[in-house]
Parts: sequence; C-alpha cells; structure tokens
Amino acid sequence: MKISSKVVQVGVNTDARTGAISTPIYQTATFRHPALGQSTGFDYSRTHNPTRQVLEQAIAALEGGSGGYAFASGMAAVTAILMLYRAGDHLVVVEDCYGGTYRVLEKNFQPFGLTTTFVDGSRPEEITAAIKPNTKAIIVETPTNPLMKIVDIRAIVKIAAAHGLHTVVDNTFLTPYFQRPLELGADLVVHSGTKYLSGHNDVLCGLVVAKDSTLAEKVKFVQNSTGNVLGPFDSWLLIRGMKTLALRMEKHNQNALTVAQWLEKHPHVKTVYFPGLVGHPGKSVHDSQATGSGGMLSFAVDDPKLVPQVLKKVKMIQFAESLGGVESLITFPAVQTHADVPPDVRERLGISDRLLRLSVGIEDAWDIIADLEQALQ
Ligand SMILES: *Cc1c(COP(=O)(O)O)cnc(C)c1O
Repeated sequence: MKISSKVVQVGVNTDARTGAISTPIYQTATFRHPALGQSTGFDYSRTHNPTRQVLEQAIAALEGGSGGYAFASGMAAVTAILMLYRAGDHLVVVEDCYGGTYRVLEKNFQPFGLTTTFVDGSRPEEITAAIKPNTKAIIVETPTNPLMKIVDIRAIVKIAAAHGLHTVVDNTFLTPYFQRPLELGADLVVHSGTKYLSGHNDVLCGLVVAKDSTLAEKVKFVQNSTGNVLGPFDSWLLIRGMKTLALRMEKHNQNALTVAQWLEKHPHVKTVYFPGLVGHPGKSVHDSQATGSGGMLSFAVDDPKLVPQVLKKVKMIQFAESLGGVESLITFPAVQTHADVPPDVRERLGISDRLLRLSVGIEDAWDIIADLEQALQ
C-alpha cells in the first residue's frame, strides 16, 4: 500500500466486535482481569490503552520502526528520548533546533549532568569535531527551525555508526509522508504530533518511533514509568487528523512554494528560507532524502520596523506560535519560539530582528499572498 492509502486506513477495522470504521475512544483508566494471572492485554491505561495503541502501531508502521509511542506533547516525547541517557553522558545537537528542545537540554537535563554541544548540523565536520568519549547520541532536525537548513541524514548516520552513537531525528516538519529517517539509518524519530500529523491546531501530542526492538523496549519503559502518555481522546484526534495527511502535505507544499517564489521577488524581502527554492544551499541533499519540502518557510525583511507592522496588519494569516495546521500562522522567532536561545547565539544563527517564520496553511495560495502583500505595504 502507498503511504497516502496507509494514512487513510489508520484505525479502520480495529474494533472487530462492532465493525466500527472510526477507532473507538476507550475512555477508561483500567481494565478487568479475566482471572488471576490473566490479562486481556490491557490492564491499566498508562501501560496500554486500545485507542493509543492503534495510533502507536500506525506511526511505527508509517515511519518503518519496530515500536511507536504516544506522549502528551512533542516535548514529552523529546524528554522520553533524553531519559534514555544518564548523568555523565554527552549529546551533540543541531544549534538551530526547536527552542523547547534547547531549553529542556540546558535548563532541565544539564543540571542532572547530561551535557550537550550545539553544532551547525549542515556541516558534518563540526559534528565529528564535537564528539567526545562520553557522547551517546546525535540529535538533528531537518529542515531546521526557523532557518530551514538541511542536515544530511545519511552523513549523520555514518558518523554516528563510526562512533557507536544513536542518531535521533526530529521529523516534525516533514512527517513520514515526505521523509522517513529510519529508512535512511536513523535509530529514533521524534515528532511533535501537534503540528502536521494532527494538522488542525487542536491537540497537543508527541510521538517516538524506534527502529530496533531493544531501543523500542527502552522507550516503552520510560513511557510507562514516567507516565507522560497521550490520553484516549487526544489519541483519537491525532488518528483522525492523520487520515488527511497526504492531501494536506501536498497542499502545504504547493502553497509554500508559490508563496516562497512570490516573497523572493518582493522588494522588502531580503532572503527567503525554503528548501523547495532552486537557490537553497541544501536543496540537493534535501531532494536526496525527502520527497517534498513541507509548508514551513522563513523570510528576512529589509527593515526591522516591518516586523511589528506585518504582525499587526495580517488579516487572514494569524499571528500565533506553532505550525503545521491547516490555518496559516506567522511568528517572530527571536521573541516568540526562540526566546530561550541566548541573544548572541540567535544573532550568529541569523534568528535576527528581521526574520519572520510562516507556517503556510492550506487556504488558497493567492489569498495568503494577498494578505502578505497588504501587510508588507
Ligand atoms: C513544536 C515542536 C516541538 C515540541 O512539540 P510540542 O507538541 O509543542 O510539545 C518539538 N520539535 C519541533 C520541531 C517542533 O516544531
């Protein structure tokens, strides 16, 4: 089955007794034991819940892993992965990673003795140079947020394998519809399902998929022991959202390309960051590992005064954090999503006072453009 069929079929026929097409919401905390020492496979919803299990099996199948696990948010999923490591361990992480990932590493895990070196993930030699004897994993995002840099997943996997490290890929921006890191050799994939996978800006959720069963068991242990699980109703919302993933991703991708090409020609726009553009420095690597560019783009305007103006004047496009939903959203990374990244680091990365990030929705592309046009005037 093609992935566009697989996403539609998620959860169909999982309730043999009634034949329900939509996965039932098993809104229960606990389950009756048939007899002493016997189980239906479900004992307590922190450990296993039938609705959550449909979702977990679906994401494992879509990413090509041996186990999938659903968490209460993307950050809960990232945290579950970080809990696979110990005090004294070291991680190498892309420097323009999601702001929350930066924050949890620096503010929560660093005090527990798990240290991180942040590197430019688009330069494999920087990654190799950052590896220490106690390094355990390389954590990357591609495209990165918000500058849409491309990380060569195969190159990272090669470096990681040579040093006996895990490769972890945050696949939130592209989803398995456009990019499947485990097929390229990565060990773990993490998602903020809040974004494209659910797709409607109506649920917080996170997912982890592990390639091999040993690692999957470890993630499962953390999920059950720490209890950051996704509830049955939110699991159902994510299943429901995923059914239209193929259609939505195609439209996001098309719209983002149209908008990016229009922005490139705008007199007040200096730079457009979108991997689908011909001039994008990472385009050939991107095209070798992904089948689409997604719906995220960033652009730098020529005058910082335009930033508050655009954020105030947009009408259809909403000034809001988050991304990946059907509605177009615009944000100002330096002050919103990346506020926890120190100013000097932000400046060096190019997350400047002129950079805006646009999550291109699935409205008509020319309505999005018309809104940007009047806001930039
Ligand atoms: C949003 C996001 C996260 C965090 O997910 P939440 O669901 O907001 O907790 C992690 N990584 C990336 C790339 C994100 O965009």
